[in-house]
Amino acid sequence: MTFVITSPAQASLAVANTTDRFPVRRIFCVGQNYKDHVIEMGSDTREAPFFFTKPADAAVDCPCTLPYPTLTKNLHHEIELVIAIGKGGSDIAPDDVQNHIWGAGVGIDLTRRDLQKTAKDKGRPWDMAKGFDNSAPISALVPLADVPSLTSGRIWLSVNGELRQDGDIGDMIWSVKEHVSILSQAVRLEAGDIIMTGTPAGVGAVVAGDLISGGADGIGAIEVRIS
Ligand code: MN
Repeated sequence: MTFVITSPAQASLAVANTTDRFPVRRIFCVGQNYKDHVIEMGSDTREAPFFFTKPADAAVDCPCTLPYPTLTKNLHHEIELVIAIGKGGSDIAPDDVQNHIWGAGVGIDLTRRDLQKTAKDKGRPWDMAKGFDNSAPISALVPLADVPSLTSGRIWLSVNGELRQDGDIGDMIWSVKEHVSILSQAVRLEAGDIIMTGTPAGVGAVVAGDLISGGADGIGAIEVRIS
């Protein structure tokens, strides 16, 4: 069998302390998963979790320099704990979720906030607001055995040294085991899937020249220069 065009490169992310890489199959994102961020977005804190996606090749290794994207005048940062799925499954029980996780990292759900607002207002899809090129810069991933906790720990983001987001993954409305379980009811999760688990309050705009730094304590750090 021969492909009629050159096969696309496998999207992948770095793994900490090795030259090995994690192949990325899909990227799922949890919307509005921290109460203080739900409030800042003017939404209802009692809603069930909802999900959207980014293309696998939106994932970018960091540290990195990314071009300011087209079509937006309001590019926002959202620092997020990132989960990497190592074993597939559907309808995974919450207490079984950890057996499906390969590891974790920290990433930024870059968002064209102006396009997202238009999409919300008009009832249109979020794809072009969330799933554009380079919209998922992510740190090197660490294996689950080296992750101190998926239920608590500081997560933060600074722009040009000024702290913008300062939360704790323990403040998720739907914990990792809860939202991964719920997501696995919607789709069968597969090895290589990435889940961006939502952002705490403090999202805001960045402009060309800005240096974004962030991290999740004990898990990883990320640095993105917008060019
Ligand atoms: Mn997000």
